[in-house]
Amino acid sequence: MESQKQFKRRFSFEFFPPKTDQGKEKLQAVRNQLAEVNPDFFSVTFGAGGSTRDRTIETVLNLHKQGISTAPHLSCVGGTRAEIGELLDVYKENGINRIVALRGDLPSGMGASGELRYANELVEFIREHSGDHFNLEVAAYPEFHPQARNAEEDLKNFARKVQAGANSAITQYFFNADSYFYFIDRLEKMGITIPVVPGIMPIVNFSSLVRFSDMCGAEIPRWIRKQLEAYGDDSDSIRKFGEDVITEMCEKLLKAGAPGLHFYTLNQAEPSISIWKNLGISDREKIAF
Ligand code: FAD
Repeated sequence: MESQKQFKRRFSFEFFPPKTDQGKEKLQAVRNQLAEVNPDFFSVTFGAGGSTRDRTIETVLNLHKQGISTAPHLSCVGGTRAEIGELLDVYKENGINRIVALRGDLPSGMGASGELRYANELVEFIREHSGDHFNLEVAAYPEFHPQARNAEEDLKNFARKVQAGANSAITQYFFNADSYFYFIDRLEKMGITIPVVPGIMPIVNFSSLVRFSDMCGAEIPRWIRKQLEAYGDDSDSIRKFGEDVITEMCEKLLKAGAPGLHFYTLNQAEPSISIWKNLGISDREKIAF
């Protein structure tokens, strides 16, 4: 973990772009609550294949102009260089200076994979098109990407993104801090020393967590799964247990030198804010670990 300790810690919250007016109002309220704790930035997801293109742009620009730096996610699958270039220009013109660059997953049955096949090609293209204007974040997988041929190949593919010009990375969520420590150790042995910020998924709903984790290859440890199962419909107990488990994991990560945390909020303020407050992050200078 030595490589990670040199970086200034940064803390961020991720949203998805709302579809309805009601969703927009809710996100505005969530934004206001989260803005109070003064995060370093917000980020907004992008539906692979461009399905949320306009909503992502609208949400990013709206959040950004309200004073907290906001980073769009941008996935290349299903897109052309011209379309991606156009999007980069819109963001640059509007003062956006950070992008989360991804391959994305095309929904099944949705056309060809596009001109850029992998995230390393997207990073390369962004550097060609926009030079060093954007700070580029890429995805990292401490438990390895579900489609990776094997762990070694996945690490090499991560290295390609760094070689192409990524500045830092955000991880897929995980519930086992050791997978993150091991991942960083492997990167250090490969000479890769960019900041790799743990992605944190608050636990609020058991069935959606299981569905989501199966899809993205995040393992829910047996002891957590069993305890959540035992709570059944008791959502207060699930929330409380989830908050304790995630707070403890975050403490462990920060103590070991993780360079910040990125919260997958699912457009809810309360679960992330409770963990944030437990950790005392707002007072970054005095943070105990
Ligand atoms: P890549 O880095 O391209 O890797 C994908 C797979 O291909 C891996 O198995 C890798 O080992 C392999 N691979 C990579 N490069 C090569 C190569 N050159 N040759 C052969 N194999 C290769 N999805 C969305 O649709 N929208 C979002 O907004 C979004 N936000 C995300 C944010 C974060 C922080 C994370 C962790 C994930 C996010 N995702 C999002 C999900 C992501 O798009 C999927 O996990 C997707 O399957 C992989 O994207 P990637 O950028 O990691 O792809």
